[in-house]
Amino acid sequence: MTVRVRIAPSPTGNLHIGTARTAVFNWLYARNQQGKFVLRVEDTDEARSRPEYTENIKSGLEWLGLTWDEGPFFQTERLDKYKAAIQTLLDQDLAYFCYCTPEELEQMRESQKSKGLAPRYDNRHRGLSAEERTALEAEGRKPVIRFKIDDTREIVWQDQVRGRVAWQGSDLGGDMVIARAGEGTTVGQPLYNLAVVVDDIDMDITHVIRGEDHIANTAKQILLYEAMGATVPQFAHTPLILSAEGKKLSKRDGVTSIDDFRQMGFLPEALANYMSLLGWTPPDSTEEIFTLAEAAKTFDLGRVNKAGAKFDWDKLDWINSQYLHKMPIDQLLPLLVPYWREAGLEVDLEGDRSWLEALATMVAPNLTRLADVVKETKLLFGEAANYTDEAIDFLKQEGVDAVLKEVVTAIEAADSLEMDDAKAIIKQVTKSLKVKKGLVMRSLRAGLTGEMHGPDLIQSWLLLHQKQLDLVRLNKSLSLL
Ligand code: GLU
Repeated sequence: MTVRVRIAPSPTGNLHIGTARTAVFNWLYARNQQGKFVLRVEDTDEARSRPEYTENIKSGLEWLGLTWDEGPFFQTERLDKYKAAIQTLLDQDLAYFCYCTPEELEQMRESQKSKGLAPRYDNRHRGLSAEERTALEAEGRKPVIRFKIDDTREIVWQDQVRGRVAWQGSDLGGDMVIARAGEGTTVGQPLYNLAVVVDDIDMDITHVIRGEDHIANTAKQILLYEAMGATVPQFAHTPLILSAEGKKLSKRDGVTSIDDFRQMGFLPEALANYMSLLGWTPPDSTEEIFTLAEAAKTFDLGRVNKAGAKFDWDKLDWINSQYLHKMPIDQLLPLLVPYWREAGLEVDLEGDRSWLEALATMVAPNLTRLADVVKETKLLFGEAANYTDEAIDFLKQEGVDAVLKEVVTAIEAADSLEMDDAKAIIKQVTKSLKVKKGLVMRSLRAGLTGEMHGPDLIQSWLLLHQKQLDLVRLNKSLSLL
């Protein structure tokens, strides 16, 4: 048997972390089993589905390295299949037209509530005669199609994550709607549970791996598989992603779409690595940094946890920094460029490559996210520094102007300025003015960058010097005094 799994996003929003994590688990399982990973776009909700969301989902999966083997298949292109399946269920008397109005359903719910009962459809139109149907149609009512659910049935499956799961037919809310009304008594828009089962049968899906919020759907879907005479696939319900407080993750936790993570400066390899750990424990739990291909070697649904997985920003940051710190500079540099440009800092990747590489090399160990490069390096762009109050106060201290003047003279006299020359200048100034080295260093930092804190001072100075900005900035600082 070839394992076949799928991710079936609805394009009603951008690719979300929850869907992406489900995709990671499906991808890992497919690769582990030398199976196939199918992409199916569940776009039957015409009012909420948008082509740009489909594009966003596809590009997000690609960015994360979650390549699919088949698809994308679109449910809107398969409506005939669903309608044929519904017609068969109607012909077999496993489904029927229900003419209840929204008001009647509301009344039903109210009366159940007042008796302390859980709301459900009471199956009242299950056994309508042809005359009764005709009469209801004559009133102009629009029917839906419901699939019969046997209240006495116990639906049991061996979940690959959760073990034995059992549902009572009576807990499924009564006969379920599988299609909306069409014109007259034709089959209208099919609904999720029906379309999913038709597709999973048609696409030979062997394992349905999805979030645990779908458990009740699974019970309903098993009944549909049986009604359609198909083999029921294996099910694996993955734990929900929770906030740090243990609640269901929401927008308020700052975690939304994969695009947001990308913009914040997470690397796709790091994010995919982190997501694989959101609910899965590798056999060697001390090893937390791995590629998806490496994880696929040991991935096992049996090691997916039942308990919710807490989203941990610190851990994601740590994993991202591990990837950033070992990334070769020529790969890292082009990834940094958009962040500089976005912040209004001019960079010419071609013309200025070696300077930018030196700059990136200096700050790479300080980066947790790509976006950090702006705050780490912005001091070194442009002719003028932006002086903080602290730096101005410092520059005005006694002795600072003498230090800076001496440094300027030394730079002007130097043939070249490399690391050793810079160190020699600092030493010489310290000696000739009989001041502490700390004063020289702080004067240089304030004079060159306008701030009292920042990246490595001598390297920063050399980088500024390569652009002939050190003298410009030191003279500007002197003019302030
Ligand atoms: N379209 C459904 C969703 O996005 C798919 C669920 C499933 O995998 O069956 O939640």
